[in-house]
Order: sequence, then C-alpha cells, then structure tokens
Amino acid sequence: MTDTSAPPLNSTSPSAGGDHTPSDAPLAPVVFDVADVDVYYGAFRAVRNVDLKIRQNEITAFIGPSGCGKSTMLRCFDRMNDLIEGCRVEGTLLYHGVDLYDSRIDPVEVRKRIGMVFQKPNPFPKSIFDNVAFGPRLAGMKGDLNEIVERALRRAALWDEVKDRLRKSAMGLSGGQQQRLCIARAIAIDPEVVLMDEPCSALDPIATARIEDLMQEIKTDYTIIIVTHNMQQAARVSDRTAFFTTEVNEESDTRTGLVVEFDQTEKIFSNPADERTENYVTGRFG
Ligand code: ADP
Repeated sequence: MTDTSAPPLNSTSPSAGGDHTPSDAPLAPVVFDVADVDVYYGAFRAVRNVDLKIRQNEITAFIGPSGCGKSTMLRCFDRMNDLIEGCRVEGTLLYHGVDLYDSRIDPVEVRKRIGMVFQKPNPFPKSIFDNVAFGPRLAGMKGDLNEIVERALRRAALWDEVKDRLRKSAMGLSGGQQQRLCIARAIAIDPEVVLMDEPCSALDPIATARIEDLMQEIKTDYTIIIVTHNMQQAARVSDRTAFFTTEVNEESDTRTGLVVEFDQTEKIFSNPADERTENYVTGRFG
C-alpha cells in the first residue's frame, strides 16, 4: 500500500446475485466484481463492456478464439497490464469491494495476494529451493523458510519428486515439473487468487492431467482463474466459464473482444443461452 489511508484489500464481501446458480445452492462470496470494463492498448480497444463476478474457491475459465482478449482480461486482475505501455483499464474492477485501480492501491501489494502462472514454465535459473523461496524472501514472510518451501512444494504435488534435489537447478526439471514448480512459487506467498494463463499449453497430456488434478486439489484454498484454448479442459476443471468472442468493426477494421456468456460451466457446455456460444462449444466456429 502506498498510503496508510488506502482501503484494505482483505475484507470479505457478501455474495451478490446476478448469475445463474440454482436458487437453492448457496453462492460463494464474490472475490472480484468486474463491471463494464474496457481495456485499451493506446487507441485500440481490445475488450469492451466486461461484466463478471469471480467467486471464492471456484475455478473460473475464460475460453474463446485467439485474440478475443482473454489474456488481456486476466492481466487486469493482478494489474499486470500496468507493466504494458499504453495499456489502460476503464470501468470498475473490485477486489472484495475495493477498487483495484484506486490510485492509493499499490500494485506490488496486489500481486502478493494474486499470483500468476504463465503459459510457458518460467523457472528462474536458480535452485528448486530458491525458486520457491524467492517470493517469501522478497515479501519478508515470517516463519521457517524450509517449512514454507516444503509446504508450497507439497501443495503443488512436487515435493516427493524433488525433496532430494532441492539445491539442484530448476532448469533440470521436466516441463511438467517446471510448471508445478511455478505453481509452488506462485502459492508460496499464500496468495488468495491464482491466475493461470494457458498453463498446460506447453505440456504433454500426462503433465496436463497432473496440473488439472492439482487445480482441483488446491481450489479449496485458492480462487483460480484460468485462460485456456482447450475447451475440454475448461469443461473438466472449471465451475464457471466465460465465453469471449470478437466482433469486427467494419469502419475501423479492428476487432474488439467481449464476453458473450458467463455461467456455470455445465450450462455453457450443455445448454448455452447464446447461439454464438453454442456454435463455439460444438466446434462449428473458432
Ligand atoms: P487472447 O488471450 O484471447 O488470445 P489477447 O488478450 O492476447 O487475446 O489479445 C486481445 C487483443 O489485444 C488482440 O487484438 C491482441 O493483438 C491485442 N494485444 C494483446 N496484447 C497487446 C499489447 N501488449 N499491445 C497491443 N495490443 C495487444
């Protein structure tokens, strides 16, 4: 936080309605409340009018054709777009009721609560231990570092495979192990939310299945948002799915992304409300 009067980032907001969970099922609290968000790169509006409620301990998937703004939208949640010159976010993005883009909010503080795992496993050229210890050291986390590292590696289902080689380079791990290490690194600082941008697209099917299993295991502790090209993956792992698409502006010859439909995953894949969603999930488009 840059300012002591900045709003706290850790309050819990009551659940709000407005989506399609059956009325007898209790709704999990809202973690992110996105209202009418547009994201621009310079003058180019990449996504428009996004409304989403991301709920606690759920896995929310963003699907849709390439270029429709899924990654752009994902980067809004940890303010990674701040690092892209010319990128601008308009509209409201609340985290537990607090405006994430309030000028008093420190993006570094945001990224302590909201971790990110990228498409390509990107371990640091350091030991396995130092990769996981990196965030806790930087954040000055209290507690025994050995225990913190072990806990994160256990949660990421990697401990048994690496416990005898913690001081060896992370670069010697397989792709799937590297990605689980990146998940361990992201969760080592105890974030509330884990953002995943195509986390399996560089992995083989076995490594992919392990990451999917892992997501199911850790969702009791985290709120997860995953961007995936793989519709089957979204159907397998997520509770809710947002289907994005692009609309073409003939005059400016540009494409703008938007959310067509956001609902429970089962509904999106079995009985979508919008014809565009149906065409996409049945493979007729995209
Ligand atoms: P998706 O994740 O759905 O493939 P992206 O969010 O990567 O889509 O991209 C959405 C649109 O924004 C695309 O038109 C893309 O070219 C554009 N875009 C993405 N990143 C940048 C950037 N750093 N600068 C300018 N335009 C960008």
